[in-house]
Amino acid sequence: MADIASNLETLRAFVREEIVPRAAQWDAEEQVPAEHVQRLADAGLFAQTVAQDAGGAGRSTLHTVRTVAEVARGCAVSARLVVDANFGAVGMLDRFGNTKLREHWLPRLRAGRSLVSIAMTEPDAGSAVGDLTTTATLDDDEIILHGVKRWITGAGERELSVVLARFGGIPGSAGIGAVLVPWDAPGFRIGRREPTMGLRGLREGELHFEGCRVPAENLLAGPGAFGRLMAAYNGQRVGAAAVSLGIGRGALAVALDYARERRQFGRPIGEFQAIQLLLADMAIQLDAAELLIERAAASVGREGFPERYAASVAKTFAAEAGIFAANTALQVLGGNGYSRNWPVERMVRDARMFTIGGGTTQMQRLGIAQALLAERQEA
Ligand SMILES: Cc1cc2nc3c(=O)[nH]c(=O)nc-3n(C[C@H](O)[C@H](O)[C@H](O)COP(=O)(O)OP(=O)(O)OC[C@H]3O[C@@H](n4cnc5c(N)ncnc54)[C@H](O)[C@@H]3O)c2cc1C
Repeated sequence: MADIASNLETLRAFVREEIVPRAAQWDAEEQVPAEHVQRLADAGLFAQTVAQDAGGAGRSTLHTVRTVAEVARGCAVSARLVVDANFGAVGMLDRFGNTKLREHWLPRLRAGRSLVSIAMTEPDAGSAVGDLTTTATLDDDEIILHGVKRWITGAGERELSVVLARFGGIPGSAGIGAVLVPWDAPGFRIGRREPTMGLRGLREGELHFEGCRVPAENLLAGPGAFGRLMAAYNGQRVGAAAVSLGIGRGALAVALDYARERRQFGRPIGEFQAIQLLLADMAIQLDAAELLIERAAASVGREGFPERYAASVAKTFAAEAGIFAANTALQVLGGNGYSRNWPVERMVRDARMFTIGGGTTQMQRLGIAQALLAERQEA
């Protein structure tokens, strides 16, 4: 393993040479080839946040989200793969898994031999994740799962999932725990794929648990752990924010090149102040997003996860900044911005997801407001 990810300059060259030339093809084919996933793993981009003695790279969340943003400049799909290979489900497995599970899976995740998905959302439980109905029942030395998950990234293309499920019929978030489910478990199957606007190289789809049985030792967290599971999920939110930032930075780079070269009315369009204002606004939004992401990534506490408030602020701002930057770049490119021969229309489609997935921007804002109001109450 060359561990390209340890150095951001080297990583930038890797993205330019290995990822940028292929991103449009993966979008058109709606699939990322397995060799590319392996290339990302070989570059040292997976399980960076996992401790070295557990098979990871032992890097900080801050460095890891910087690598995510670098990759996203060239390809948001690749960057989302990097997020999923470092945060969310990986964080939960690393933090809550027993020694046997961690020793078995974490080195495989680092090497790219296995990919894990996070399975929370259900047909009738999206923002209201506390209402999920997938059940987990302990039966001697096994856990039996029943239910359907929807919108699961990587459905059909990974090897295992961290599944949030309800234990003992306990209502609300108090009844929710998490189980690690390898996809070769009996009673598990992949459902239909969701056709999406952007991020087309990723498969989004359903997971079905029909009396699915896994060993009891695959329990990551029982009922009562919902708050800790969501704390682990804050890493995923900061990772998602870094994808938005990277898409926006990529779009700004294309717009700057174009503004220098495209000539109208006898001069480069970059000499028109109307274009300059667009470029400046993109940079302002992206710089602010970057600072918020860095703050969130640096807020990692003793449990190893970023703090909720900082993560939600960063995710909300960066998601909107990424959409703004991609959309504004499209305007700078004029007709070429709308053409599929240029990368910007793909960036617009990809960026659009990030006010929805990983908790919508409305839900993030509600969490931010609740934190503010609670603070005031204590004062
Ligand atoms: C591309 C993609 C990938 C995804 N990957 C995964 C994955 O890997 N794993 C996974 O578990 N899930 C995944 N999701 C699901 C995602 O987390 C949900 O789509 C998201 O949480 C919103 O849920 P929903 O789609 O059911 O919308 P709903 O919850 O039905 O919301 C619809 C609208 O109502 C608003 N709303 C809902 N409740 C409130 C409220 N109380 N106050 C104000 N507004 C409200 C929402 O903000 C939204 O605008 C993915 C989604 C997408 C699009």
